[in-house]
Amino acid sequence: MSFTLHGIPISGGVAIGRAYLITRAALDVIYYLVEPNCIEAEVTRFIAAQQSVYNELVMLHSELPADTPGEIDAFLNVQILILVDEMLVEAVIELIRVRGYNAEWALTEQLERLSKHFDNINDEYLRTRKTDLEQIIERILQALVASTTDDIMTNSVQHNADKMIVVAHDIAPSDILKFKAQKFLGFVTDLGGCTSHTAIVARSLGIPATVGVQQASSLIQQNDMIIVDGDRGVVIVDPTPLVLEEYTCRQSEQWFAQHKLQRLKFLPARTICGTKINLLANIEMPDDACAALDAGAVGIGLFRTEFLFMNPIGELPQEEQQFNSYRRVVQTMNGWPVTIRTIDIGADKLIDSTNGLEIASHSALGLRAIRWSLSKPQIFLAQLRPILRASAFGPVRILIPMLAHALEIDQTLNLIAQAKRQLDDAGLAFDPNVRIGAMIEIPAAVIALPLFLKRLDFLSIGTNDLIQYTLAIDRTDNTVTHLYDPLHPGVLQLISMILRETKQAGVPVSVCGEMAGDPALTRLFLGMGLTEFSMHPSQLLLVKKEVLRARLKSLRKPVEDVLASYEPQEIRAALDRLLKV
Ligand code: PEP
Ligand code: MG
Repeated sequence: MSFTLHGIPISGGVAIGRAYLITRAALDVIYYLVEPNCIEAEVTRFIAAQQSVYNELVMLHSELPADTPGEIDAFLNVQILILVDEMLVEAVIELIRVRGYNAEWALTEQLERLSKHFDNINDEYLRTRKTDLEQIIERILQALVASTTDDIMTNSVQHNADKMIVVAHDIAPSDILKFKAQKFLGFVTDLGGCTSHTAIVARSLGIPATVGVQQASSLIQQNDMIIVDGDRGVVIVDPTPLVLEEYTCRQSEQWFAQHKLQRLKFLPARTICGTKINLLANIEMPDDACAALDAGAVGIGLFRTEFLFMNPIGELPQEEQQFNSYRRVVQTMNGWPVTIRTIDIGADKLIDSTNGLEIASHSALGLRAIRWSLSKPQIFLAQLRPILRASAFGPVRILIPMLAHALEIDQTLNLIAQAKRQLDDAGLAFDPNVRIGAMIEIPAAVIALPLFLKRLDFLSIGTNDLIQYTLAIDRTDNTVTHLYDPLHPGVLQLISMILRETKQAGVPVSVCGEMAGDPALTRLFLGMGLTEFSMHPSQLLLVKKEVLRARLKSLRKPVEDVLASYEPQEIRAALDRLLKV
């Protein structure tokens, strides 16, 4: 039966494919689709793991001392019975054979199914057997992990990912990174706000995505045919032939428009009146620098380095590893500036606690970003040194997230000076004049901007957090997404203040939040005097198209009207006029 779900559009375009449901447990294990010729080997791998757990339990049972309480004997017996039950073994083998899931995925999928059965059982005793089931599956998973080799991964190419749309309750930004290597068609999640980092990273995959589609992961079944309309935030499950045809046509139109846009790639971004506008890219991983160049970016305006620290191995990258990553981006950009933001963890971006570090705060107001770095000076220095060393290979700018206090700026500058001295002592090269800038994303920083203008070389406006903190809206919470309004007069006034004051002080400024990549806002920013934008590569040509059509003089009056308005309807009306000039 066809039905439609609604959510928050976060990455445009249309995806048509089969639903690929991902459970929380599945995200914690390795999952992939097995090549048809490797299916029987995967079944054998599963049976070997199941057999080794069986041997272990039987051995434990046989070694029980004579005076062991009867409950323990019964407990082991129940676990052995579950382990050999066909509801577990046969069903998992079938999932591997029919769906092509790897053993870990098949096991977690079957756990989900059986858990539902257990939840519906009336008998209290039987219901608590669910814990035994979970423990058994955990044991088999551990046995599988122990048996996993690189060989298995390389033989098991995700051959079907290009026909699948991921559906999940929620996905952490670090988990989305795991999908970068796979060609999924689209994303749907139950939770998430429009500028949550999950949304930002999903957008960076360049595939249609909709978040905040409540109940999607319970209403959509594995393998259902679905359409994701990433422009409208709509998910159509089991579409009728007519709807399918309509969306297939829309998809072709979008591909055609995308193709046309490519012609702008080599054109310099200049307004009709000849003002040069710098369009730079935001990246999360070193490999993204190629996409930035491909889109015609004239530099990296924001390298979110925290994603390097969320590696799947659960270890902090060593200094040398970090240096290689930063240098790689600098060399790929081949002379264009690279703005490397120091680690901005906390809130919805958390480092795995297995790193052995005190993790940053879950709260957007807690110990996160520069606050966290300053509380861990040795880790901070171990990031500053490789960033500085990368500056010997091309222009690098260091960007500090979430600064608010003069003391934080001063402490940061002192640590950068210390890192430079350490490199000097070690005889390692770096650019002594590397520029240092601040993200302006806290309203207090805007109001006290002279503190920043006096101490730093450049500023970058992080509109995502600036909106979050100005409007007191948690950017990850889909229940308040409707209040997350980039056009709130409070937000527009703050941005305009920053642009005015930086111009007077002669300090370069850019916008690197998601607003910079919204072509509907390009004219507004141009009219406010912005000349540097940084955005996800997929938005760059759309924004360039707006730049090429703009005449700055004619934007001034309508932009003044936008800024003079406080009523939402008046702001919208002034913005409409701006789009028509
Ligand atoms: C921002 O806050 O606007 C920004 C660019 O940083 P992030 O989205 O990583 O918090
Ligand atoms: Mg931010």
